[in-house]
Amino acid sequence: MPGRSFRVGRIAGIPVGVSPLWLVIVALITWTLGADYFPEQVHGIGALAAYGLGLASALLLFASILAHEFGHALVARRRGIEVDEIDLWLLGGVSRLRGEAHTPGDELRFALAGPAVTAVLCACFALAAVLLPASTPAAISALVEYQALVNGAVLVFNLMPAFPLDGGRVLRSLLWRRSGELARASETAASIGRGFGYVLIALGLLEILNGLPEGLWLALIGFFITAAAGAQAEGGKMQAALSGLRVRDLMSTPVFSIPAEMPAGQAGREFFMVLRFTSFPVVDRAGRALGLVSLGQIEALSPEQRRLRRVGDVAVRDDALLVRGEEDLLSLLDRPAFARIGRAVVVDDLARPVGMLSMTDIQRALRASVLREPSGVRQRSQRRHAGDPPGGVDAAEHADGHAHEQPAPEPPRGDRRRHVGAHAERMHEQAAADHA
Ligand SMILES: [Zn+2]
Repeated sequence: MPGRSFRVGRIAGIPVGVSPLWLVIVALITWTLGADYFPEQVHGIGALAAYGLGLASALLLFASILAHEFGHALVARRRGIEVDEIDLWLLGGVSRLRGEAHTPGDELRFALAGPAVTAVLCACFALAAVLLPASTPAAISALVEYQALVNGAVLVFNLMPAFPLDGGRVLRSLLWRRSGELARASETAASIGRGFGYVLIALGLLEILNGLPEGLWLALIGFFITAAAGAQAEGGKMQAALSGLRVRDLMSTPVFSIPAEMPAGQAGREFFMVLRFTSFPVVDRAGRALGLVSLGQIEALSPEQRRLRRVGDVAVRDDALLVRGEEDLLSLLDRPAFARIGRAVVVDDLARPVGMLSMTDIQRALRASVLREPSGVRQRSQRRHAGDPPGGVDAAEHADGHAHEQPAPEPPRGDRRRHVGAHAERMHEQAAADHA
């Protein structure tokens, strides 16, 4: 995504960010409306008033797109998908979600929620434009008419069947419902989306060649769709490569645990300096995992604190970071705590640590598998069709030397994890992109 967005606030608990590029778009809209649209619609309007109305229109559009995104976000949240933030950027808005819809029906509802809001807005503005009394100043009518038009355009654009646009998500949910396979549905929808993007780019360039500068918009939108569909396809492949894997398939063993009552400084000397891992499980007297402590947390303490504070006090204690070996890898990646900390302690029935799993472990395993065999996803799904039980691989076979941040001596074996790019940290960051 272009440019790092800056936070402008929170609405209903969801952070809202604006890309610096959005300011460029606001300026462009203000300029085109102030120079052309309003002077045409309102006879005798002054330049200042025309540009003022242009700015007001751009900001109203901003609010409409925000409302559209909240349509998506609130439905997602009601369906149990966490919404990280809403971003307004180059060509509209994006709701960043953690995880995927759980069923095709949820996906369909999520995809349609935004367009439904836009449809209502469009109808309200259109109705207002018709019902406004004749005495209404021409400037106000022109403003309202423009909002009806532009929301209509947003609606049509978003319903185009080009994943990751809303229409593409609708398509994906229908494909998903039919095949029962999210990964394959995503792949198909992304291919269609990319093709659609290329067509728009071509049309835009044709327009420009024919002396119509508006073609630049089409080409830009096409470029955006192509890029977004490509990113989605990449994420889909990783998801396919990881589906069926369990936590124990990638965890590192053996594991060394630090007693919670040990002073932080002693832990630094006896564990971090000797074993050179960047994090360790922290256990109580019975050997049960309480959380984990990282080198950074010890480093952040003053020498005085290192002497006085105990590891149990500085450790991250979050039950979401204690996982069972048989847990699905994808569901672990959906946990916000894991996404934030990037590590988890794998525990047995008695909550005793049996391994560690870090985002780096996952990334490295995925990257190494790319080098080994180039054509994984299809074979993998064929094997699953052939009745190969997912997961269920002997954990010892995959131990990669417990080297959480060190070079992997041996990448994990097994044919379940190939064909994946180096963007594991993004794989849970599903972006639902919208609008022009
Ligand atoms: Zn949308």
